[in-house]
Amino acid sequence: MLHNKSYLKRGRGGKVFKAVKEHYLRDDIWCSVECCTICSHTEPILSSIPAKTKLVTKPHYIIPDTNVFMNQIDIIEHPALQNVIILQTVYEELRHLSLSVYNRLKKMINDPNRKFYVFANEHHRDTFIERIKEESPNDRNDRAIRAAVKWYATHVKQIADKGKSLEIVLLTDDAENIQRAKQDGLLAYSVREYVEGMIDTPELVDMLGNVRISDNKDKKIVYEEHLSASQITNGIKNQTLYQGTLNISMHNYLEGSIQNGDIQITILGRKNLNRAIQGDIVAVQLFPKSEWLRAPTAVIVEEEEEKNLAEELQENCKPKEQSEEADSDLFEAPQPTGKVVGIIKKNWRPYCGFINKQSVKGSSTSTLSENVSVYPIDRRIPRINIRTRQAQNLMGQRILVAIDSWHKDSIFPMGHFVKALGAAGDKLTETEVLLLEHDVPHQEFAQQVLNCLPVEGDLWVVKDEHLQRRADLRHLNVCSIDPPGCTDIDDALHVRQLPNNNYEVGVHIADVTHFVKPNTPLDEEAALRGTTVYLINKRIDMLPGLLGTNLCSLKSKVDRLAFSCIWELSPEAEIVNVTFTKSVISSKESFTYEEAQARIDDQRLQDDLTKGLRVLNDLAKKLRARRMERGALTLASPEVRYKLDFDSQDPIDVEMKELRETNALVEEFMLLANISVAEKIYKKFAASSLLRRHPPPTAFKLDNLNKAISAFGLTLHYETSKALADSLDEAVLPEDPYFNKLLRILTTRCMMQATYFCSGTFSVHEYRHYGLASEIYTHFTSPIRRYSDVIVHRMLAASIYDDEVYGSELIDKKKIEQLCDVLNHRHRMAQMAARSSVELHTNLFFKGKTEQVEGYVTRVLKNGFVVLVQKYGIEGIVYSSDNSKTKLNTTASNSTSPIIYNSHDNSLDSITGDGKKISIKLFDKVIVQVSVDEDLVGGGAGGMRQKLKLELVKPVVPGLSVSNDTSTDNNEIIEENNYNNKKDKRENTNGGRKKKMKIENM
Ligand SMILES: [Zn+2]
Repeated sequence: MLHNKSYLKRGRGGKVFKAVKEHYLRDDIWCSVECCTICSHTEPILSSIPAKTKLVTKPHYIIPDTNVFMNQIDIIEHPALQNVIILQTVYEELRHLSLSVYNRLKKMINDPNRKFYVFANEHHRDTFIERIKEESPNDRNDRAIRAAVKWYATHVKQIADKGKSLEIVLLTDDAENIQRAKQDGLLAYSVREYVEGMIDTPELVDMLGNVRISDNKDKKIVYEEHLSASQITNGIKNQTLYQGTLNISMHNYLEGSIQNGDIQITILGRKNLNRAIQGDIVAVQLFPKSEWLRAPTAVIVEEEEEKNLAEELQENCKPKEQSEEADSDLFEAPQPTGKVVGIIKKNWRPYCGFINKQSVKGSSTSTLSENVSVYPIDRRIPRINIRTRQAQNLMGQRILVAIDSWHKDSIFPMGHFVKALGAAGDKLTETEVLLLEHDVPHQEFAQQVLNCLPVEGDLWVVKDEHLQRRADLRHLNVCSIDPPGCTDIDDALHVRQLPNNNYEVGVHIADVTHFVKPNTPLDEEAALRGTTVYLINKRIDMLPGLLGTNLCSLKSKVDRLAFSCIWELSPEAEIVNVTFTKSVISSKESFTYEEAQARIDDQRLQDDLTKGLRVLNDLAKKLRARRMERGALTLASPEVRYKLDFDSQDPIDVEMKELRETNALVEEFMLLANISVAEKIYKKFAASSLLRRHPPPTAFKLDNLNKAISAFGLTLHYETSKALADSLDEAVLPEDPYFNKLLRILTTRCMMQATYFCSGTFSVHEYRHYGLASEIYTHFTSPIRRYSDVIVHRMLAASIYDDEVYGSELIDKKKIEQLCDVLNHRHRMAQMAARSSVELHTNLFFKGKTEQVEGYVTRVLKNGFVVLVQKYGIEGIVYSSDNSKTKLNTTASNSTSPIIYNSHDNSLDSITGDGKKISIKLFDKVIVQVSVDEDLVGGGAGGMRQKLKLELVKPVVPGLSVSNDTSTDNNEIIEENNYNNKKDKRENTNGGRKKKMKIENM
């Protein structure tokens, strides 16, 4: 049956033409109810005996309307909701309204356990309806939904006549819709009514969206009304407003900023932030110049300090102490400030957090619904008010919550409970929290992904057919060098002398793209994950284990497929030429760094493999010397590794990582391969190469560092990376051997991040990698654990084989650009997750212990200072005793001697009891006591942050003693990394469990 529908459409040039849409109506769309004998479906989805609830005493199927999915998707996602019929009308509306809701629903539909059935009501002869004249599309769709519900209700009645008793329930929060449905004799309920009837899952009531709780009893307007979309568009167009992504400070959740082109606009205070949340794209209006910032706002604010909310809301949020500091301004020019006038795009996500105990009023047996406030783990997110009946149960737990709305008369946003994650402080719970908080996809691989793996499984072997397009390099003395216990070996090396006395050096990389074909579910999953994430006690793989640790891994004594980069190098390590080929190799040995080093050092060993290692080592040193000569930087990060207990995986010891020559050897050739490959693919894909760039540092941060080291008579020059490298080499204090390393750590923090980019979106001079002093660079050497390398492998194959077939994904500039955005995000999140994992294990390590250790001051703030404890690679804040920001520059309340922040020297000064002046400045060596804050039920945030406590022991400064935080400054800490550390990605722990402390960042 064919339905023709013609309508008028306005074309591009404004021309009107008549379009005809063909609409097929069919008789073969079935109900999908298992026990139905009327329909002739083969694989019915809906169960024959769906559940009953208190409200609907007969077994039934649920049909929700579009708004239910839009507003209550967390409820729908709950496993208790099964046997749901999704009408095509609803499904299509959702796809247009919210891609995220649509995708979440799609996932549920694909899960056979959920029994979600999509009913093609728009194509069903009995349920399709035409739009009536004067009827709005919305009304038409509502009617279509009711028609489908009616059809189902009648249909299940027919089934019932044959013995099975079933009902259909329309779920809608639209009162009028319920009314009409009831008039038609249909069962219809609001989500709240329905969920309240599900007595076995009381948590569902908590998950109802859009709860409206006001935390502001007078209902006074707290925030300014947001501008309308058209006002914002116009404002941006006529340049009275600025658009940017809001970034909230890690140290002060009341300070945000946006970057718009070259200007950074700071937004101070809750009122000016005007309900925008970290990551939102906002429209900002500038303040007059007289209100701009003239000095940095170096204060740390924690939520515990919100003693006087009302007062804070009244303040006009001008930067403080402007006048006092007029003569010691730190900024050369005032920094722009402004306020948020509208939110262009919300970036809300589910947040992990915990219930503030003090907000819970009910008794311990109470199951009445009450309003409580949830502190998100991410300090940049405001607390969220939720309504829950499980407050008592949820105290002490990590929970997931979602924000529903933020009204202008409400100080904090409103949200709802999503699910409980487990007890705070529990290692598994906390690991889940950090994966969720860093947006790390960590579910098991789906079946359709696993279906892409070779059918032979681990019995897969290299066959003759593989050799047809590949060089057979199995006779070469190839070996790999990795951290102990490494199972995902993605690189191996060989060297041999040529008749002309030059050397042939080969870098062989796992041929992942042989197994991961473009646009397969496996490829899509790897692209989504972007990178393998290494936590201290866990590795979240980018590729399924069969590939990552077996078929792709270049294990010794077995044939493996590789992608080889082979150079002819002169004895002085000059490149004579380079070739690339797909190959088959058979690694002779998988060395650890230590083993390879021992072979090199033991002069009694004269076998070919060992001699080869010595040649490689010698060539690597020459390559490195030349790289340094060009101005490559040796940067540093405070790195340690934890030894974990075999059973509990709790840390039992901590040690600094040892670096050997062999680490540098591998690194040097990997860098060389990455550069050679970048040059090659750029020739073929000038506009769409996936490359990696590292911009030079901005002057501002390095100037501040220079100011601090001028006290030691030192200066860093940074016009070029060469100048910086040289001045870093010279910045040595003979009395303090650690000083240079510390300076490199701090310099590293002044660096920009290296990022992936599409060659067509930058001009050639911007391709440069500042840290490596290379004109062009990419990632080729780790395709098992980085998706960037997978794309680069495909580009390289297309560059060397004329007959290589490739799709638009390699030449579409826009697609590569979008991919780079995703990869940069994943890469950054992976680093931050790894860092959080170190923090978590540091807390576990210090549980029940205290230790006095030496540390260095790495940052001075107005109300405290940051100390780096190199022994543990941790950084924490020592607060001044009164960290209320309003009193900072006056006196510490309980001390007779004031602590004064001296902005001129960037120091905290005080006088001891015996009249001696004490001052804390950058690079000062101090003794701190480290312990873990075990109080889980204390005041304020309830100690739920689980943090290390750093207390100053020496020098003793009155008032500078209490502390309670170890939040490392995540937004600043090392992004670029010493080349030495690249490979330390798979450090072994006891018993062969692998972990990674630091990912390669170059
Ligand atoms: Zn049927």
